[in-house]
Amino acid sequence: MNLQPSELQHLILICGLVFAGQAPIITPICIVVERLTLAITMDGKLRKRMMFCCCLSNTSREGMGNESCDAAMAGLKKLISEKGDLKAMAVARIEQVTTELKAVDNQLFNPVERMKTGFIQFKKEKYEKNPALFGQLAKGQSPKFMVFACSDSRVCPSHVLNFQPGEAFMVRNIANMVPPYDQTRYSGIGAAIEYAVLHLKVENIVVIGHSCCGGIRGLMSIPDDGSTSTDFIEDWVKICLPAKATVKSECGSLPLPEQCSRCEKEAVNVSLGNLLTYPFVRDGLMKKTLALKGGYYDFVNGSIELWGLDFGLAPSHSV
Ligand SMILES: [Zn+2]
Repeated sequence: MNLQPSELQHLILICGLVFAGQAPIITPICIVVERLTLAITMDGKLRKRMMFCCCLSNTSREGMGNESCDAAMAGLKKLISEKGDLKAMAVARIEQVTTELKAVDNQLFNPVERMKTGFIQFKKEKYEKNPALFGQLAKGQSPKFMVFACSDSRVCPSHVLNFQPGEAFMVRNIANMVPPYDQTRYSGIGAAIEYAVLHLKVENIVVIGHSCCGGIRGLMSIPDDGSTSTDFIEDWVKICLPAKATVKSECGSLPLPEQCSRCEKEAVNVSLGNLLTYPFVRDGLMKKTLALKGGYYDFVNGSIELWGLDFGLAPSHSV
C-alpha cells in the first residue's frame, strides 16, 4: 500500500474517527496526528509507526498486530469509499485539526533543544570567558557559603544572589527547611551539612525563605488534628510546625496569606535553630569559624532581607 504522506494523514485521521465510533472525540485523533507528524520525517518506517499509533488510540485495538492493522486499514478504506457522509465529515475534521496542530506544532517545546541551547550559551558566555575560574574549579571547590533555598523554580540563589560557580554549596528542598539532626530520617541533609562544614569549611550557612511559598502554605493548611493526605510533602514541612504554632498564636486572626508570609520568615528561624542540633555546626559557631544567617526573598516586590541570629550560645552540652 503506497500512499503519500498527505494521503496517509487523511487515512489515519479517518481511522481515528471510525475507531472513536464516529464521535467527535478529538484526543485520540490528535494522538494519531501527533505521532503521524513525527513519523512523517522517518522514511521507510512511516507506515508501521502510524499503524501502531493508530492502534494506540483505541484500547479495543490493543495488541493488534501490523498485519491485522493492514487488514483494518483496507477495510476502512472500503468503508470510507462506500460512505460519502463519513468521508466528508472526516475530511472537514481533518482540515480543522491539521490547522490547529500546525499552530501547536510551531510552539512545541523541545526540552533537549532547550538544554542544549542553554549549555551552549553558558559555555560561550561564562565558561570560555573565565578560564582562570574554571581552571581553578577543576582542581576543587572552597565555597564560602552553604545555602538552603526552596526548590521553587523562581528562587534560584545563583540568580537572586548572583552566586558564581564555586561560591555556594546548595541544598534545595520544599520550603528551604533544615530538619533537626536525625541520622535515620534526614541523612541526606545531615550529609550535606557535615560535608559543607567539616570538609569544605564553609564560613556561612544561609537559609533563604521566599514569598508565595507553596510548601509553607501547605504547612499552614495542615488540619489541626495533624492528618495528612500526601505521601511526603506534609510530613516534610511539619519540620517547621513550631513556626506555624508561633504564627497561629501571634496572628491567628489574620487572613491566611498574611499568616503564610509571616510563617515563611518564621520557618527560616526554626531552620536556623535546627542547625544548632548538628554538633559540627555548634562547634563552628563556638570557634567563630561559622556564622548562621537568615534571608527572605520577596519576588513580588523584588526585595531581599538578610539577618543574623544571636543564639547566645553556651557550651554545646547545654544546647
Ligand atoms: Zn517555596
